Amino acid sequence: MHDLSDGLAHFQQDVFPAKAELFAHLATTHRPQTLFIGCSDARVVPELITQREPGELFVIRTAGNLVPAHTEGVDGGDGVAASIEYAVAVLGVSDIVVCGHSACGAMTALAAGQDLAELPAIARWLRHAAPAGAPAGASADPPPRELGALVRANVAAQLANLATHPAVARALAAGTLTLHGWVYDIPTGTVERIDPAVGRSAALAS
Ligand code: ZN
Repeated sequence: MHDLSDGLAHFQQDVFPAKAELFAHLATTHRPQTLFIGCSDARVVPELITQREPGELFVIRTAGNLVPAHTEGVDGGDGVAASIEYAVAVLGVSDIVVCGHSACGAMTALAAGQDLAELPAIARWLRHAAPAGAPAGASADPPPRELGALVRANVAAQLANLATHPAVARALAAGTLTLHGWVYDIPTGTVERIDPAVGRSAALAS
């Protein structure tokens, strides 16, 4: 906690004053144009890798950047669905990015077929990655190429899940919303774009 207190003091003394005008504007304005759905992984920082200022990204971070498909009448405290609905129907974001990443712990657990008996919440949550399909013959130490393929397939699967949410489906039909799939590579800082429609990818801003 000491590090956090030091950081907070630095923010208040040096960073905040330099951006005082921005924060004054943001005090009464919340109009992000992008919903960024990323992994909770500490190494994948949305505002850092996209170089966005406060107020520009509406962010949801979940283990494995998973987006459960829309389900009718589920009273499970579905914070992900509520945040998606708010971003699209209330804030009116024009773009949604689903961002996976290299060395993802959630995808590694799936690729390795790890025993999650002692981690029941994680086991339940990772079922939302099922459409991505764990590779056949999962091994305890999946090779990077296999893990990379699963990470990319998972981004495509989560984009499909995202489109099942009514607010997203309406905005897509109206042509006011565009979905994007990214995979961020931690050691190089590059982003690979995932195109769910044709199942191919291309280097983006590398
Ligand atoms: Zn991850």
